[in-house]
Amino acid sequence: MCGRMEEKALIENINELKKKKNAVILVHTYQRPEIYKVADFIGDSYGLSKKATEADAKIIVFCGVDFMAESAYILNPDKTVLIPTRMANCPMAAMVDVECLRELKKKHPKAAVVSYVNTTADVKAESDICCTSANAVKVVNSLEEDEIIFVPDSNLAHYVMKNTKKKIIPWTGWCYVHKKFSPEGLAHAKATHLDAKVLVHPECVPEVVDLADEVCSTTGMMDYVKHSPDKKFIVATEIGLIERLKLEFPEKIFYQAPPGGTCLQMKKITLELILDSLINEQFKVMVPEDIRVRAKEALDRMLNVA
Ligand code: SF4
Repeated sequence: MCGRMEEKALIENINELKKKKNAVILVHTYQRPEIYKVADFIGDSYGLSKKATEADAKIIVFCGVDFMAESAYILNPDKTVLIPTRMANCPMAAMVDVECLRELKKKHPKAAVVSYVNTTADVKAESDICCTSANAVKVVNSLEEDEIIFVPDSNLAHYVMKNTKKKIIPWTGWCYVHKKFSPEGLAHAKATHLDAKVLVHPECVPEVVDLADEVCSTTGMMDYVKHSPDKKFIVATEIGLIERLKLEFPEKIFYQAPPGGTCLQMKKITLELILDSLINEQFKVMVPEDIRVRAKEALDRMLNVA
């Protein structure tokens, strides 16, 4: 951790270099709070990639995990996309490999493949369409096929299953952060804070989702709190979102659902690494053109639905 003055100096240097190099810094909500201070945009992965297409910048520094930076490149191939460390890799996205997905497709030749945006570019390229946690049900229901292979999150697949008549063939991936929230812990928190609304991310296990007042994506949670007359919320998602809710809505009270959860991969990015990334223009994220084009088609199809 850097001290106060050091942090101030780092932020000044980053902002100066950002202007000089015509760069934009996109920051995922799960990043460390000090990273917010150099952000041009804060949001979820797909929202940030879309923002990048609108930004008049030559360089995008993506403060998130690997698949998010890849998506930024897929949508912005004319820009230089940088990730401050190669160590920020999402374990859930790594749970699908293209060979196994092809095998599953062979077993279910009539099924369409829906891939959550939390997948690598080659898996997106192998998919018919992408989805986010906010539009997964809508995307699945929009397809002609009655059978859907859903990758990689089995919990999000289960949530979709409950909200569609189609046959869902789930991959067996999961997010270790969201899987941690327990129904017993959440039931206890609800009993302790009777007047709190319960917001749950659909990457949580079904028994936790069943206890929600509202099931929503991170962006959906921000919107819900903004428009809700309620003052207290129990939130089942990564700690970064709770920190951001506290910053944006200081008049409201937020409790992270027990036993809490932090994405260690998201926290690997530091202000020092962002400064190094801008100075040395490292680490470049690129996707082979044939994969990029096919992955973009899957992302574009999603945009036409949602
Ligand atoms: S919170 Fe879960 S899905 Fe998101 S980057 Fe971390 S491990 Fe991956």
